[in-house]
Amino acid sequence: MKLYAPSTIREIKDKYDFRLSKSLGQNFLTDKNIIDKIIEESFIGENDLVIEIGPGIGVLTSEAAEHAGKVIAVEIDRNLIPILQDTLKEYDNVEVINKDILKTDLNEVIEQNSVVNGQPLNSVRIIGNLPYYITTPIIMKILEDGVKADSITIMMQKEVADRIKAEPGKKVYGALSVAVQYYCTVAHVASVPKEVFIPQPKVDSTVIRLDIRKEKPVELKDVKIFFQCVKAGFGQRRKTMSNSITGVCGLSKEQVGKVMESIGIDSGRRAETMSIEEFAQLSNSVYDMIRG
Ligand code: SAM
Repeated sequence: MKLYAPSTIREIKDKYDFRLSKSLGQNFLTDKNIIDKIIEESFIGENDLVIEIGPGIGVLTSEAAEHAGKVIAVEIDRNLIPILQDTLKEYDNVEVINKDILKTDLNEVIEQNSVVNGQPLNSVRIIGNLPYYITTPIIMKILEDGVKADSITIMMQKEVADRIKAEPGKKVYGALSVAVQYYCTVAHVASVPKEVFIPQPKVDSTVIRLDIRKEKPVELKDVKIFFQCVKAGFGQRRKTMSNSITGVCGLSKEQVGKVMESIGIDSGRRAETMSIEEFAQLSNSVYDMIRG
């Protein structure tokens, strides 16, 4: 069965009296080339575990199952569960979990699948055509929870992908760029026009792959302070960096002046010009100042 064919989606809707839910971000993918590209660029091996976020009717799931040792698909909509049991019935290496991805302990899922095909698990590949209303929370949860995955190949709204990929000096460079790039390297996989979804969303999409870094790009004395500085810096973009971080960890304006001077960063700089390395220097210096 060609799951990606618009006619199949219509048939499934009729057969199961299934109604697409706008609030769950259900825009189903109908382009085989994009599906193939996502699978190809996920580099799935036969002893790998694939975790899919939001399988829908199983277009990506079935393709992933052809390559992976095991696929775990996490779908929140219970109306899709009988449909997935039907569309994926020929694959004995797929397990569908009816849960909210934001409430799923993925490290526990990985631990429970540490043996795949009788072999120790090789890599963990997360994939998905994400529900757009929670793209950022999903990504940040995976990264902040330290989920033991190797890569995350995901489709999202183009604008969010642009923010994730952005470099210092760009208008869309912000806290999300710094946060994701701290944990991962980012690769562009595909640009996807809105016409290839049912129903058609208002915006175009992008597929990116996040390769989770084995080693972080900067050394931090305190990760929390680093992210406090990043958040404060981008919280009020028009303020200078030194004004924005006054108050972080209880620092006075005078202390902030000393911090900036000690690392040689001009106090008039704005967050959007600061590289990850500079944020690291800044937060390490804040740490030194409050530890006295
Ligand atoms: N993978 C399918 C495809 O490409 O055609 C469906 C993608 S659709 C954009 C997003 C899917 O995520 C839907 O099936 C939706 O029900 C599911 N979903 C939405 N919120 C979710 C959540 N919090 N946890 C798990 N799945 C969710």
